[in-house]
Amino acid sequence: MLKRPDSNIDQSKWELFIDRLIIWLDQFLPEEDFDGLDGANRMRKARIVIAISIFSSACCFLGPALILFLDVETAQFMSYIAMIIGGSMMVNPWLLKRTGNFKLVGGLFLTQTGVMILGSSFFLGGVLAVSTLFVILWPLENTFLLSPRAGIISGVTSIVMLILYYIFDEQIQTINLLNGQQEVYLPVYVFCFIVGIITIVAIGLTYESFQRRSVAEMQQILDELKLVNQELTQSKEAAEAATQAKSEFLANMSHEIRTPLNGVIGMASLTLDSDLSDEQREFIETIRNSGDSLLTIINDILDFSKVEAGKIELENQPFDLRRCVEDALDLLASKASEKNLELLYSIPLDVRTEVVGDVTRLRQILINLIGNAIKFTDEGEVAIEVSARKTDESHIEYHFTVRDTGIGIPAERQDRLFKSFSQVDASTTRKFGGTGLGLAISKKLSEVMGGTMWVESEVGVGSRFQFTVTYPVTMLKVSNTVFHLSPAPVLDKKFLLVDDNKSVRKVLSHCFKSWGIHLDVAQSGQEALAKISSGHNFDFVMIDRDMPEMDGLSLSDEIRRLPELKNLSMVLLSEHGKVTTLEPRMSNFLGTVSKPIKPSQLLRALLGFASNKRKSKPGTAPSHALQAQDELLASRFPLRILLVEDNLVNQKVAGKMLENMGYRPDIVSDGSEAVESVKRQPYDVVLMDMQMPIMDGLTATEMIRGDLDVAHQPKIIAMTANAQVSDREKCFEAGMDDYISKPVRIEDVKEKLQKVGMKLNIS
Ligand code: ADP
Repeated sequence: MLKRPDSNIDQSKWELFIDRLIIWLDQFLPEEDFDGLDGANRMRKARIVIAISIFSSACCFLGPALILFLDVETAQFMSYIAMIIGGSMMVNPWLLKRTGNFKLVGGLFLTQTGVMILGSSFFLGGVLAVSTLFVILWPLENTFLLSPRAGIISGVTSIVMLILYYIFDEQIQTINLLNGQQEVYLPVYVFCFIVGIITIVAIGLTYESFQRRSVAEMQQILDELKLVNQELTQSKEAAEAATQAKSEFLANMSHEIRTPLNGVIGMASLTLDSDLSDEQREFIETIRNSGDSLLTIINDILDFSKVEAGKIELENQPFDLRRCVEDALDLLASKASEKNLELLYSIPLDVRTEVVGDVTRLRQILINLIGNAIKFTDEGEVAIEVSARKTDESHIEYHFTVRDTGIGIPAERQDRLFKSFSQVDASTTRKFGGTGLGLAISKKLSEVMGGTMWVESEVGVGSRFQFTVTYPVTMLKVSNTVFHLSPAPVLDKKFLLVDDNKSVRKVLSHCFKSWGIHLDVAQSGQEALAKISSGHNFDFVMIDRDMPEMDGLSLSDEIRRLPELKNLSMVLLSEHGKVTTLEPRMSNFLGTVSKPIKPSQLLRALLGFASNKRKSKPGTAPSHALQAQDELLASRFPLRILLVEDNLVNQKVAGKMLENMGYRPDIVSDGSEAVESVKRQPYDVVLMDMQMPIMDGLTATEMIRGDLDVAHQPKIIAMTANAQVSDREKCFEAGMDDYISKPVRIEDVKEKLQKVGMKLNIS
């Protein structure tokens, strides 16, 4: 449909008039009145018929003006005829609108134009009249505007009329234009006319038939397309249903596998806590490690199927990005330290780290990339760098780089990395294990979070895995980060860092600089000793434990041996788990800070050491970092616990865990028993399995929330193998307070119980 032209464009009055006319016609005969292609075509013709009708009737009313040029009698007669036809043409638009019958109006139009053209040539001079030329155009107009049949009818009518003019020429001529010469030319003239008319009709018919055929072909193509479309929709629906079934199957399977695995891992962990011979310990550790690997594989496959089905559910919670990176590093620190790798990270302090998004998924990507980096690096370092840039007023794009000095990846294999089940070569699987799904999942996750992932790598030099994610910024204060600590108490102190690793020196120098503290650095024990003895008057020396030639402990001995430096405070920087209190040289240190060094933790430790130093003498004060707290949880938080679990093995695992914390839980094996129990006696905590026979965990929770008065309501913690966000939401909707995913880990249970204990103020 034609649109009203843009008013900004300059238009002549004539163009404006045409546009208005078309718009008026559009409104007069709206397209919806005709369906299908043929209908649309017909409609276009109908509009032209109307336009011609209006135009012709307007012209016909000008008939009287002819009086000026012709002899009065003929002109008057002509004027009447023209006015009658013109008047009758005015009926066309109204009739078409009223009846919607194009055939009827078309027939009328055919008659009106015929009478007008043939009539005027009859009255204005027969064969030789100028208006007879229009007789040729009449069939053409009818073929195109009405139908081929109308074209043939008008062609035949014209020919018959011409022959009649010729035969009765003498009688019908009113004006003799050629004065007697007409006998010579007239037959030739009529013959040419007839040939002309036949040719025109033939051209019109051919054109029409072509058009009809192409319309029919288009219709056929359209029909075929419709059919293909239908088939495509059906196969798409079938594929979606299959994917849905596949993911449901995988989710169910993984649930089914997790449940017995929970028993295996849990029992193995408990057995490891008992007295075992070295051989037995090795066997059980193997069982637990294999269980852990199996669990990782199941999680990967489940995740991958969700990624494939586009069913990743993202949480939107405020969190601290710095804390997320630190958590991922904490988890992998022991692995890095087993391989003697330096693990470090840097997030410039001016980067906003309080964001809203899915912390678990971000941690998952980081753990995968850092885990790979550690896996494929034998010596050197693994470093994580984070930078940020604003994409608009409320969004920040974070750019993470996980850099290692490992084996690297050949250029021709790099593009395959992010495809599922791909490993650089088959031998890696044998040597390092893994499903080859981690990177594919991580890349997809980063894409779902508004970013992407790529890699740069050189064989023998190392790899740089990079990814971006976009988060909306939040004004919320998410946690106590380094920003909320003031370095003021140590601003006037002089610090020396001794570390052989260049990246560590760089990162820490940067941190100290941002706090406004000067940091001197030394890359070896010798250099440190030289600096210390050259009268720099350092207050604190931070010493890396593992350095070539002279390690941190030996350096501390050397420093203590220098008589004038007896009171110099030393802090040990050591990888996770490498510090042992039995080491006598540990007394040289005020305390330790574990690597990877977190700026917030380091500053907090330094502030602590500085105030300790004021209170006690160095060298004798045990570091608070070395103090182990191993108090039983139950004595700190005495809670009455009900365990609801149908699976016997899992009952034993969870029950034993609780016993090891000092609790004596009551155990029931389905939801309805749980409801009965909480009605009978009060509990502080109910650990509730989700899927149970007779009554499931959600229903039981709803009943407990509905039946019990507020004072007797226990805290209900769900235990489920369905580790999806929507399941967690279901738990909260049913009235549960918290959530532990299976396989249940002792640390998780401890953390949740501690939380409940603190909330209930039981301590
Ligand atoms: P997997 O679970 O097998 O580690 P990933 O998708 O995480 O699966 O990794 C796929 C493959 O990419 C690995 O098997 C390894 O060959 C290669 N790769 C990943 N990260 C690194 C890295 N940092 N250095 C060298 N190779 C790597």
